[in-house]
Amino acid sequence: MEKIIVTGGAGFIGSHFVKLLLASNDVAEVTVLDALTYAGHKENLDDALTSPKVNFVRGNILDEDLVDDLVQRHDAVVHFAAESHVDRSFFEAGAFLATNVVGTHTLLEAAKRHHIHKFVHVSTDEVYGPMACGSASERSPLRPTVPYAASKACSDLIALSAFATDGVPVCVTRSSNNYGPHQHPEKIIPLFVTSLLKGEQVTLHGTGQHIRNWLHVEDNCQGINLVLRRGIPGEVYNIGGGTDLTTRELTGRLLELCDADWDQVACIPDRKANDVRYAMDFTKIAEDLGYRPRVSLADGLAQTVQWHRDHLHLWAPAQRNPDAPLAEINVPASMER
Ligand code: NAD
Repeated sequence: MEKIIVTGGAGFIGSHFVKLLLASNDVAEVTVLDALTYAGHKENLDDALTSPKVNFVRGNILDEDLVDDLVQRHDAVVHFAAESHVDRSFFEAGAFLATNVVGTHTLLEAAKRHHIHKFVHVSTDEVYGPMACGSASERSPLRPTVPYAASKACSDLIALSAFATDGVPVCVTRSSNNYGPHQHPEKIIPLFVTSLLKGEQVTLHGTGQHIRNWLHVEDNCQGINLVLRRGIPGEVYNIGGGTDLTTRELTGRLLELCDADWDQVACIPDRKANDVRYAMDFTKIAEDLGYRPRVSLADGLAQTVQWHRDHLHLWAPAQRNPDAPLAEINVPASMER
């Protein structure tokens, strides 16, 4: 029975992870530390907030005093909080460095002072940069090409150095592109689904040939949970096993699920540094920790589209209205991850 801090627990993946922790029934207390930026919403936590085991703290991971106070009262940290949208990082790189790098450092310093039992730092395949062929193992060099990925790579290295220099029991997870319910509609799948369901156009960057590995959020959370419980400190674990699709193929699947067709799709010039392909080898977590992805793309996408159909009233306004309850800023239609 442990007391666990989940940073960014009101965001997309973090909120799923909080629910998974509660369902596992062997956790004494879960404290969500979240600044509730435009990307974080308490609604993402659904009924989890009513659990007597859950505390919600609205606060910033850059707040040293707050972080110190919380960390000293907990056993483990699972760190999701981040600026997470690539397109924003072209315009607001400073915010990405502050939260993703300095924020991670602030948490690690507290973890060191208070001898935390486990610190799971949640990261991304994008730190490996584009892979024209083959796939990245945990030992592959980090070659990020965009400010978001560079800030995540930097935070991975800061986290691993805290293990090497001070013995902070850090594990790093790197997953491929997640999808599922509760993802902010600035990301491609919710953006396309909500637009298509409303009969609006979506835009495809370039010719839509960029390849991404699509992993259901519950599979990523399952992998992170294995790493929390059994991951070896100082180690990195790739979490993959989703389905590789070009953006054009993904669009085709979403059109079908949303009963729409290609005349709702417009092609626009490619964005800056849009990496052609990401690919990871996840043998290590499969063999060492028994990880197996469980959700097929067909089932996962169907569930996600249905969720958006059921919650259109919740998400559709967030694309347009700066004052909408679930988003504080406008999302240009061309934004995709
Ligand atoms: P998200 O943008 O949906 O959620 C981020 C959460 O962090 C939000 O709730 C936000 O309010 C909170 N936050 C932001 N800055 C904060 C700060 N300074 N202090 C406290 N809280 C803050 O992100 P997500 O998609 O859920 O991603 C979670 C983590 O997983 C990130 O670290 C991201 O890099 C990583 N990741 C995401 C994906 C993906 O496909 N979404 C893939 C691989 C890795």
